[in-house]
Amino acid sequence: MSVEKTDAIVLHTYNLQESSKIVVLLTPVRGKVRAVAKGVRRTKSKFGSALEPVTHIEAQIHYKEGRDLQTLSQAETRESFQPIRSDLTRLGLASMMCELMEQFVQEDEESSREFVLLLLSLRTLATIVKNYESLLIAFYMKLLDISGLLPEVNCCVRCKGGLQGNTYLDAGAGGALCARCSAGMGEKVSAGGLKMMQRLHSADWVMLERIRLPKASADEVLGALNGYVLHHTGREVRSGKFLRALSGSA
Ligand SMILES: [Zn+2]
Repeated sequence: MSVEKTDAIVLHTYNLQESSKIVVLLTPVRGKVRAVAKGVRRTKSKFGSALEPVTHIEAQIHYKEGRDLQTLSQAETRESFQPIRSDLTRLGLASMMCELMEQFVQEDEESSREFVLLLLSLRTLATIVKNYESLLIAFYMKLLDISGLLPEVNCCVRCKGGLQGNTYLDAGAGGALCARCSAGMGEKVSAGGLKMMQRLHSADWVMLERIRLPKASADEVLGALNGYVLHHTGREVRSGKFLRALSGSA
């Protein structure tokens, strides 16, 4: 057994028996870690309050090789992202990002790029007050990129031709298709939407709040990205309803 201190982001928690919690963490070195925090619901402690989803913590974990469930013996809050917590829209968006991370990151696998992506996304979300769609699209693109699944959106993946008029995004093909090559495959995304995906992928974090997308364009890009991710993970994002609520209020 080894005892390790690590930075971690709490992705998800659920109750275990009367007083304990199982916590799903994203860590830079060991990827996704599932750990039990014993007795943590019995008393009001600093330890307990650090174990809310969407919290950046310093965790002390007792590892036993070959076990699915590790033991979390101590946790201190580093960043609680209070502005996210006090706003339902932002909390829904943060939950969605955490859920996507939980789907993409494996256990016992170095995941420092994923960790930094989620940390910077949450820090950005805690400071911006509008144009959340731009941040979410940037998050999707960066996550797909570091997972080796970035869609090709510069040209048609089949004929390598330019993209104009009616264009499509097809997860099976690995990116955009022109109208001629699509033959009914993929989800419709305008050429402008594809350009926007590319732009947001490489945009600085501080710029995202200034990039306002027309609602129809944001809807179609987010819908297509959701389908793209579903193709690869095979799992619907639970908090995906949030997408529709967000686009409804835009
Ligand atoms: Zn083509």
